[in-house]
Amino acid sequence: MSTAAIVPAAGEGTRLRAGRPKALVPLAGEPLVVHALRALRASEVVDRVVVAAPPAVGDEVRAALPSDWTGWVTVIDGGVIRQASVAAGLATLSADHDLVLVHDAARALVPARVVVGVVDALLAGAPAAIPVLPVPDTVKRVRDGRVLETVDRAELYAVQTPQGFRRDVLVAAHQAADPDAAATDDAALVERIGTEVCVVDGDPEAFKITRPLDLRIAEAVLESRRA
Ligand code: C5P
Repeated sequence: MSTAAIVPAAGEGTRLRAGRPKALVPLAGEPLVVHALRALRASEVVDRVVVAAPPAVGDEVRAALPSDWTGWVTVIDGGVIRQASVAAGLATLSADHDLVLVHDAARALVPARVVVGVVDALLAGAPAAIPVLPVPDTVKRVRDGRVLETVDRAELYAVQTPQGFRRDVLVAAHQAADPDAAATDDAALVERIGTEVCVVDGDPEAFKITRPLDLRIAEAVLESRRA
């Protein structure tokens, strides 16, 4: 079995307000995308990676990668939406890779055991596997400034990445995808073609770095790992 990973990293990162594409925003002196790739590498279960970078900074991303990752990682131009970035990565992967992970660069500090957990679920026969965490907050559906209902949180889970798929399943899901009804994750596309998606344990440290506070939390996580 060979496992490839696609890392969508072509977001503008406007919510981070760093004034540059999120992939290149520094965290403890290194771009976020380098942290995300290091996390995948540390899992020792990813044979090859394709990074979908913002086209304008592809060379800058390439230059930021450690030289001993040559051959393991390739940088391509991402698309206008996340789904297009993943599809572009998928198009570059050969059928030699039976399993494909999709990992948001923004989840830069995912612990290796989450990556391994997803791959183990695929190796055990799941066509698709995603890491999840129970939602700790009470969640309400709101419209026009008014609460419509309180949702039973016992069945609610927040979804993380990497999400893992049998390659044929992910290809079929993207082929069937409606470009006008973009999905915010790949599992949603797999659900739409009626294929079962299994869940595995996520980890709070696999949080998505979206807003300025998340960067400060990420610095603290790295600090605690170093201590
Ligand atoms: O925008 P969102 O937070 O959902 O982005 C999730 C991931 O998708 C990020 O890692 C971002 O860089 C990536 N992305 C992408 N191409 C886009 C938009 C987002 O690769 N056009």
